[in-house]
Amino acid sequence: MADTADVVVVGAGVIGGAVAYYLAREGAKVRILEQEAIGSGASAHATGSISLVGAEFVPGPSFEEALESYRMFPDLVSALEEETGMDLLFQRKPSLRLALDEEEERLIEDLRKWQMELRPTKWIDGDEVRRIEPRLSPNILKAAYEDESSQLDSYRLTLALGRAAEKRGAEMQLRKVTGLITEGGRVRGVETSGGEFHCDTVVLAAGAWCADFGRDLGYTIPVRPLKGERLLLKYEGDPLPVLISSPKRGHMISRLDGLLSVGSTGGRDYDDQSLFLGVEFDRVPTEVARLELLQRAVDVFPVVESAQLVQQLAGSRPLTPDRMPILGPVPGWEGVMLATGHATKGIHLAPITGRVIADYVLRGKTDVPVDMDAFLVSRFDASDSHDYREAGKNVDE
Ligand SMILES: Cc1cc2nc3c(=O)[nH]c(=O)nc-3n(C[C@H](O)[C@H](O)[C@H](O)COP(=O)(O)OP(=O)(O)OC[C@H]3O[C@@H](n4cnc5c(N)ncnc54)[C@H](O)[C@@H]3O)c2cc1C
Repeated sequence: MADTADVVVVGAGVIGGAVAYYLAREGAKVRILEQEAIGSGASAHATGSISLVGAEFVPGPSFEEALESYRMFPDLVSALEEETGMDLLFQRKPSLRLALDEEEERLIEDLRKWQMELRPTKWIDGDEVRRIEPRLSPNILKAAYEDESSQLDSYRLTLALGRAAEKRGAEMQLRKVTGLITEGGRVRGVETSGGEFHCDTVVLAAGAWCADFGRDLGYTIPVRPLKGERLLLKYEGDPLPVLISSPKRGHMISRLDGLLSVGSTGGRDYDDQSLFLGVEFDRVPTEVARLELLQRAVDVFPVVESAQLVQQLAGSRPLTPDRMPILGPVPGWEGVMLATGHATKGIHLAPITGRVIADYVLRGKTDVPVDMDAFLVSRFDASDSHDYREAGKNVDE
């Protein structure tokens, strides 16, 4: 006989975990199904940067959603740490967005033109940058200084969301979902490698794999993998006092466990000469990415020449053509929700995604102060072909 739940969540990445947690908090009977392991997709490989001043968001609902999710983190982290006993290595520090050349200066200034109203930063010159951190490169021309930005361990966050959801009654099983059970215009459950599960609602939170479910629904789900790699270094000196990023060189963050995170690759290298995009679901670390990331790190923080490489991580982010997530029902169907396409910002956007999808499932609407219609999948209906290459460029995290 088929098993039942109110809601089946497909995928135990940070998004599936957040959706399950917010649903379970409200008493829903939730089943999470994961094909491989918790966080085995993009979520365990992410930097965990929760930042607003990079190139990841655009004016309007994209930035407003990001700001709202940013504000949710302190309370969510406290609740998860209390409920699970885990330390999520959450830190809040000032940030510097560095310009090492005139092009980076222009890229930062372009963003500041519209970001200043919602997220003020101030320009400081290279000497002031080096007063904050004397070991930073003498080639740094300027930086945008932000009073506060945040970062945490993305794998721990993913595990904590799943664990806290379980403590509130959700059940998790390692099963690959192989198809959707449909009846008329309704989704009634899922077929898996271990039998059928029936439910009122299926939430597709399968990251870059979500496109597979388009076949059962007769609807294109425009998501593709965007490979990303980053490095963890062991550097014996004091940790950096600020969170660092630069438009062409990505991020550099001293984590609370003492390791230095450097990354990440995205759709292009920093001279825009070669593209990393294009190898489907390839999660193998590469030498070309390692060398580029080490070079970027040395450009910004020359003392890391003496650092040791501890780990190289690679994952596939779920990329949409406009790099904004897809959140909400699939047109023409009842009982199925999409929660995917978070690209380079799925850790950052996990809290608001969990809350909004729980609202949609339980109440049919949400009252978060953001125009969430901007994230419906129907925004892509008018176009048959999409430019994922453009969307995959300019990655910090
Ligand atoms: C190098 C790198 C650095 C990053 N840095 C940051 C950062 O600093 N800040 C930030 O906000 N974001 C960052 N990201 C992006 C972030 O990791 C992703 O946006 C986020 O993890 C996506 O979460 P997800 O749950 O949608 O997908 P995933 O984590 O990929 O989870 C999807 C899950 O679904 C499972 N699944 C797939 N198909 C099935 C099926 N048929 N049945 C059952 N289970 C299935 C998969 O096994 C997987 O576990 C980074 C990503 C990378 C790769």
